[in-house]
Amino acid sequence: MKKIALLGSTGSIGRQTLEVLANLGTDYKVVALTAGKNAEELEAQARKFKPAMVALHDYEAAQRLTEALADLNIRIESGDEGQVNASTWSDAELVVMAQVGFSGFLPLIAALKAGKTIALANKESLVVGGELLDRLGLLDRSRILPVDSEHSAVWQSMANAQKDEIARVYLTASGGPFFGYTREKLHEVTPEQALKHPNWQMGSKITIDSATMMNKGLEVIEAKWLFDLKLEQIEVVVHRQSIIHSMVEYIDGSIIAQLGSPDMRAPIQYALTYPERKTGLVERYNPFNSQLTFESPDRQNFPCLDLAYRAAETGGTMPAVLNGANEIAVENFLAGKITFIDIPAVIESVMTSHQTVKNYNLKDAVTADRWARQKAEEIITGCKGRMN
Ligand code: MG
Repeated sequence: MKKIALLGSTGSIGRQTLEVLANLGTDYKVVALTAGKNAEELEAQARKFKPAMVALHDYEAAQRLTEALADLNIRIESGDEGQVNASTWSDAELVVMAQVGFSGFLPLIAALKAGKTIALANKESLVVGGELLDRLGLLDRSRILPVDSEHSAVWQSMANAQKDEIARVYLTASGGPFFGYTREKLHEVTPEQALKHPNWQMGSKITIDSATMMNKGLEVIEAKWLFDLKLEQIEVVVHRQSIIHSMVEYIDGSIIAQLGSPDMRAPIQYALTYPERKTGLVERYNPFNSQLTFESPDRQNFPCLDLAYRAAETGGTMPAVLNGANEIAVENFLAGKITFIDIPAVIESVMTSHQTVKNYNLKDAVTADRWARQKAEEIITGCKGRMN
């Protein structure tokens, strides 16, 4: 029986992970569940999966959960400590990290230090901390199993290849709901339109990131650290159908790709059952009479992609600043306070005013994240959403 700790269990990836686990049956046991503040849903999950511990980041929500679960023998924790304790839970053989944004950073470091094997869906933690973890010798790639669909595809397509046999990696991008839009048209798009992704069912933050192409930018940085690649080896290709989840080109010119229906339950399950494969819930892709197309990304109208490359080139605390500014810009766009094209403009001005700390430590990363959020808020308030 494989024992699983799941962080971020009430988000989109978290819910789908529990769906996959329920379908896999009794060979898998959930031992810890955590979420941000959704006490009601975590209670329902705890009643169904009977973990030994649950944690909510929000203190008051954790109080409510303690009362709600008083009839069960489940340990209930709160704050950063609760998340970290779940990610290092002694009984857990696999820690699934499905939190949204920067909140995944401290639990990831703790889990790596504790020697855990991690199924990683939280890309932001590697964006912020990849360089630091690598420098500290904590980035044990054999113990980080990617859940992000592109990275799962790269992982599967690399199989047991030697590093010097890899020429490059093509990360596929759907292009999001606004591919082909002009700048004028992008100016008018609403949060409702941006939240309608053509192919994937995902949470709101990542869906906006997909629409701006920041998601692909963050994934470039994630791929750099997960697979120890140079930035020049990572190419983004727009593939509207989201059937090829990514491709690896070898030095002899061969390209190996991984294909399947666009359904996050596929990469989630592969990380859970690895190194085995099991039948799952995902609808089979039917290759007959279908088309697969490839196009260049529109780097002019979707500048977030190049901002991410630029942050990765600069290194140090800059990727943390990119990420922090993006999280605030996305929040403000969803709240109707800035326009869609303000998102890259806010991030760029925050990055421009940042003094990068090279060879950063944990505290520098946390400070850079906080600074970037504050700076982004200042810029947004100062311009009252009239940046462009
Ligand atoms: Mg992805």
